[in-house]
Amino acid sequence: RIAYVNGRFLPHSHAEVHVEDRGYQFADGVYEVVLVQNGVMVDEMPHLDRLDRSLDELRIAHPMSRGALRSVMRELVRLNRIRNGLVYMQVTRGVAKRDHPFPKNAKPSIVLTAKRISMPSQETVENGVKVITIRDIRWERCDIKSVSLLPNILGKQEARENGAFEAWQVDADGNVTEGTSSNAWIVTQDGELVTRPATNDILNGITRLSILKLAERQGLKYVERAFSVDEAKKAREAFASSATAFVTPVTQIDDVVIGNGKAGTLSRGLRDSYMEYAAGEGAT
Ligand code: PMP
Repeated sequence: RIAYVNGRFLPHSHAEVHVEDRGYQFADGVYEVVLVQNGVMVDEMPHLDRLDRSLDELRIAHPMSRGALRSVMRELVRLNRIRNGLVYMQVTRGVAKRDHPFPKNAKPSIVLTAKRISMPSQETVENGVKVITIRDIRWERCDIKSVSLLPNILGKQEARENGAFEAWQVDADGNVTEGTSSNAWIVTQDGELVTRPATNDILNGITRLSILKLAERQGLKYVERAFSVDEAKKAREAFASSATAFVTPVTQIDDVVIGNGKAGTLSRGLRDSYMEYAAGEGAT
């Protein structure tokens, strides 16, 4: 495997950053994960727009031009012979003597890796997955795709220990914000598609945005509003979305089975349309 570190392609085993990188010491950095399908990037521009936004919100300098970054992404996919996988990129504020304020002369560090991933099994697509619900203990800037992910890691670990795919985080009002690495959706008994509006409380998923676009085009009834855990447990369907899990049907929330325990019709339809979109219009 080959990685990219600050201007150089290196063997994965030699891809290192300094111990005083602020990403390592303070989680002072941001990241993106871009899906590679059939050798091409999916929704590349929206991901790079979100990277720019995350950097700007934290006042971290852009390490390279978009054109240069796109070349590096392509080269990395080529060198690692990725057909179906992902590109991971991370930018931190750089290396400086440990001190909380922004350093004066630090250069941002940029690291990219790529790996293959396998498609979710047919079993997952048909029978869906379980999610648990946990308290959302994160901060008020979940819209920034920061590498500071401790609450997400603890939540995902709790999910795994409970035989679940994901943990849906719940705010003080009892409403679901999002998963630890995916956005949360339900389909109400009235057939309305619901997902939480993109405020500071969630990461505005690129997959989420593409699904909303597809729903709009297909004339589906949808609304961006908060929904409670109780409402989710009474829903007709539920699913999770992310760049690497696409649309994953959710058929159990805590101990409650959703619908008839099989992936819902609308979820499956959206999954199919998203996969078609990823292979066509969304591919670059
Ligand atoms: N929410 C969180 C907290 C995430 O980490 C992710 C995945 N990076 C998402 C939502 C989904 O975002 P995307 O569709 O852009 O992968």
